Amino acid sequence: MNADPYAWIEKSLDTIRRADWYRSPQSIESCPGPRVKLAGDWLINFASNDYLGLAGDDRLIQAAISATKEFGTGATGSRLLSGHRDLHRQLELAIANLKQTEDALVFSSGYLANLGAIASIVSKRDLILSDKYNHSSLKNGAVLSGAQTVEYDHCNLEDLRSLLTEHRASYRKCLIVTDSVFSMDGDLCPLPQLLALARQFNCMVLVDEAHATGVFGASGAGCVEHFGCTGETLIQVGTLSKALGSLGGYVAGASALIDFLRNRAPSWIYTTGLTPADTAAALEAVKIVQQEPDRRDRLQQNIKNFKDNAISNYQLPVSNSDSPIFSFLLKDAATALAASSKLKEMGIFAPAIRPPTVSVSRIRISLMATHDPAHLQQLVEALRQI
Ligand SMILES: *Cc1c(COP(=O)(O)O)cnc(C)c1O
Repeated sequence: MNADPYAWIEKSLDTIRRADWYRSPQSIESCPGPRVKLAGDWLINFASNDYLGLAGDDRLIQAAISATKEFGTGATGSRLLSGHRDLHRQLELAIANLKQTEDALVFSSGYLANLGAIASIVSKRDLILSDKYNHSSLKNGAVLSGAQTVEYDHCNLEDLRSLLTEHRASYRKCLIVTDSVFSMDGDLCPLPQLLALARQFNCMVLVDEAHATGVFGASGAGCVEHFGCTGETLIQVGTLSKALGSLGGYVAGASALIDFLRNRAPSWIYTTGLTPADTAAALEAVKIVQQEPDRRDRLQQNIKNFKDNAISNYQLPVSNSDSPIFSFLLKDAATALAASSKLKEMGIFAPAIRPPTVSVSRIRISLMATHDPAHLQQLVEALRQI
């Protein structure tokens, strides 16, 4: 009985290494922006979710500093105990205003927003229909809820319809769950058609706007606005940590829904409130998103410029997306790793994404409003050499 009960961990790590799936963080040594310093070298940054370039914006930095000076570094408790500040409420009202919903609730991360929302609105006797390519937080929210979960083929409404026809009647409530912009391929879910199906089968819809908020829609509200679905009854989740440059997540929707979540969502009730700094920075970011549509225009121009050049001119194997997210597909994990380090030698920071995160290994590219044409040119030249 002298066996080491932890010995499996090293063995497991060996297996991960042998498959070229081993990962470790890389340290960025500068402020976030279109160029970042990595291991002493300045690289053009195509690895960031800071689509509008707000994470290094002086107004967000100043808002975070003032809030910290006034309210301290920590919220000191959960929102229902000592962790609530008027700043949280201001941010929630600003998000509801951006989204044109009755109310919103801020969570400590987008991941926790998805876990909390899904786990509290459906349970054992209910059904979840989930897109195969949904984010990990949506999938784990489904697991946590205990609901019967069935995955439909990616963005495939016919598959979704046939699963609804087969299963819907056996369950009390049904929730359809989808990313609006898919985080790895950058494609958009067919939201209006999905909402129509949901109505036909009496289903709720939860849409994750993590990569869309601030990026899509005339006012930056996300894909719901982009597709003309503003005002429809649905559950919108998102993050404060991508285009909004801060940290945290939210759910936006009807006031009854938000009230219910404040009373039932475990990942909101039993966790510490967002820090004053993160809250104030996000609030400043929501204002900028609404007041500076030119940031979105510049991002759209960069998307078009990159597609024209990489896909139309050079026929590179890049996913054809309308979002700032692109994938450069490669045959296996080792090739993707080699490509990523070659890019680094050429002054480009773009990570290799490998299984189990995705099934096909790739270089993931994300564009920012603050990239200039020379940055994009350098990216395309580097990709051509791979
Ligand atoms: C990033 C992301 C999340 C998680 O948001 P965090 O605030 O980083 O926890 C959730 N859903 C999707 C689709 C994401 O891309």
